[in-house]
Amino acid sequence: MSDPAARKTVLHAPGVPWGDQDAAGRGAMLTEILAQVSREALQGEGLEAVLRRIVDCLVQRLPVAIASIILLEEDGTHFVQEVWAGELDLQEPALATGWPVTMGAAGRCARTGQAQLIVDVDSDPDYVAGNSAVRSEYLVPIRHRERMHGVLNIESTRADFFTAEARAVFDAIADQIAGAIHLARVAGELEAANRKLEQLSMLDGLTGIANRRCFDARIAADWTRLACEGRPLALLLVDADCFKPLNDACGHLHGDECLRELARICAQFADGAEDLVARFGGEELVLLLPGRGMRAACEIAERLRQCVEAQAMPHPNSAVAPHVTISVGVSAMQPGALHAPERLISAADRALYAAKAGGRNRVVALPQVGED
Ligand code: GH3
Ligand code: MG
Ligand code: MG
Repeated sequence: MSDPAARKTVLHAPGVPWGDQDAAGRGAMLTEILAQVSREALQGEGLEAVLRRIVDCLVQRLPVAIASIILLEEDGTHFVQEVWAGELDLQEPALATGWPVTMGAAGRCARTGQAQLIVDVDSDPDYVAGNSAVRSEYLVPIRHRERMHGVLNIESTRADFFTAEARAVFDAIADQIAGAIHLARVAGELEAANRKLEQLSMLDGLTGIANRRCFDARIAADWTRLACEGRPLALLLVDADCFKPLNDACGHLHGDECLRELARICAQFADGAEDLVARFGGEELVLLLPGRGMRAACEIAERLRQCVEAQAMPHPNSAVAPHVTISVGVSAMQPGALHAPERLISAADRALYAAKAGGRNRVVALPQVGED
């Protein structure tokens, strides 16, 4: 005499196949699977892995020969990616080049936006055979709000599998999948936006070159790195001569344009993979040249000064020349643990001051008294 309560417990135990369960047991299994899919959908370890775990879960626990999630291209005209599990013993659909939604039962589901129940696959003209044991198929659109992401395709070896109860569970699973896809897309967009913001936060809005924040971060990192590598670091501090009189004579917008041109020229002289050109502040620009000693740095500074002169940007109000000129303070030293990079900056600043005091339109490098 079996106790009905004990029998029920056995029937609901994990591992008991679908076919051996009574109606209550099947209902409990479907509920469990829905709960498991909800958990998988929130795992967030990459979309493809999440989708794979969902289809695996469906084929392992249910009389499902093939479970697949077929994703649509952005414009909704082709399927471009399929994550599937099960036994595919016939031809695999060729998704490499994209599979148009004009084809197959999945295409019909995507086109109409309606779930498709195929009770007998042999009598459906759109059914694409994947496994000869399959008797019935259920396809559900994967849609988040108005956006169609793809189709959830379940193929069963049983003709009676897709009861209203089972279909309701697969509809809910398709919603979970849509949520997971939406979350992954939002996360991807957020990441891209953050990367863009990070880049923008390091750029100067007027000139498009690196800003002071970027320069500060780079000189600190370079200082530490070059101290370890035993290589020198050079700095060129570039200041436009008589820039205020240029603004006064031609207007600030013209001054801005001139500053952009100076930044563009400076960038040409910071062309090494490790070099950085940045706006230091106001009309002062800076070139950070890792690996360069004083001699090389002075040569670059002098070529830069000559290049600005050769550009012959008119300056109607300069005390130096009828065109825009620059003064450059140069410093170079071997970074060391005992000193901070401010030492390099203040040496260039003193050199720049000397260049101004010496008549402008010149390059000055002070004797390297403080070099490590
Ligand atoms: P000098 O350097 O030769 O001693 O003279 P200067 O007139 O260039 O003097 P200083 O470098 O001290 O002045 C900086 C001037 O640069 C002040 C300001 O009018 C101008 N300036 C600073 N930032 C900008 C900017 O973003 N756009 C424009 N148009 N002008 C700027
Ligand atoms: Mg100036
Ligand atoms: Mg200045």
